[in-house]
Amino acid sequence: MFQSLAGRVAIVTGASKGIGKGMAKRFADAGVIVMTVSRNRAEAEQAARDIGGDAFGFAADVSDPASTVAMAEFCLKQTGQIDILAANAGIFPPAPLATMTAEQFDHVMHTNMRGTFLSVKSCLPAMTAQKDGRIILTSSITGPITGFPGWAHYGASKAAQLGFMRTAAIELAPLNITCNAIGPGNIYTEGLDGMGQAYLEKMEAAIPMRRLGSIEDIANAALFLASREASYITGQMLVVDGGQILPESQGALDAMA
Ligand code: NAP
Repeated sequence: MFQSLAGRVAIVTGASKGIGKGMAKRFADAGVIVMTVSRNRAEAEQAARDIGGDAFGFAADVSDPASTVAMAEFCLKQTGQIDILAANAGIFPPAPLATMTAEQFDHVMHTNMRGTFLSVKSCLPAMTAQKDGRIILTSSITGPITGFPGWAHYGASKAAQLGFMRTAAIELAPLNITCNAIGPGNIYTEGLDGMGQAYLEKMEAAIPMRRLGSIEDIANAALFLASREASYITGQMLVVDGGQILPESQGALDAMA
């Protein structure tokens, strides 16, 4: 049903682990040439080796303009094109509002929002020249739809990505470049290892599907948004959360069989 993506080129930021690495693997399995990006060069390159195929790694800090320009230049030098950008790098260090410092706020906004902007901006010249491109932002349900204590700065950054996305989608539509987002719910990544079984069960109990999302659940959504078949979808967030945002109250969850 889906046209092949073989031979297309994707940059995936935050690809040394977690959701980004899963997206990179899913793209590579579909024949996409993937550049895995993280600040740690050894880990970015290891991720590329783990993924296999034609994947290659690059070290860049998405909050630094020179770094994201170098990222796009390296991809063009290696492959001659940039068809897909998964702007996924993000951080989520918790900080209660009462004690949150301006530096903590700026750090999260710089990585998550400024990093999104700079990653997109650096890839635009190539996508504009190609008159073709797919931009996929990793947002979250936290911020755009829900809240969670300790994550006011994080929620603001994830909601900001959607504001950015909507205008970017309009500006880029005539160039045949789409800009969409994925809104993951609670996804099982290495970061949750060590949190304990009781913690995980509590999280699962709040999700109508009674399981955490997998990295593959998010990666499949990214592959769809990168596909030719998604060419008329732009400026949208695809929520992938097992129904987590749906219950109107704890009572709705309790009423489930
Ligand atoms: P993760 O496992 O902590 O991985 C984060 C990745 O981003 C790493 O590769 C990290 O590598 C990279 N990174 C961090 N800061 C960077 C920077 N300034 N420049 C370049 N790369 C940077 O995170 P994750 O759980 O997979 O989350 C990935 C994305 O999904 C984030 O945007 C997050 O907000 C979103 N999300 C996650 C969940 C979830 O349940 N996990 C839910 C909703 C949304 P280095 O540290 O080496 O740079």
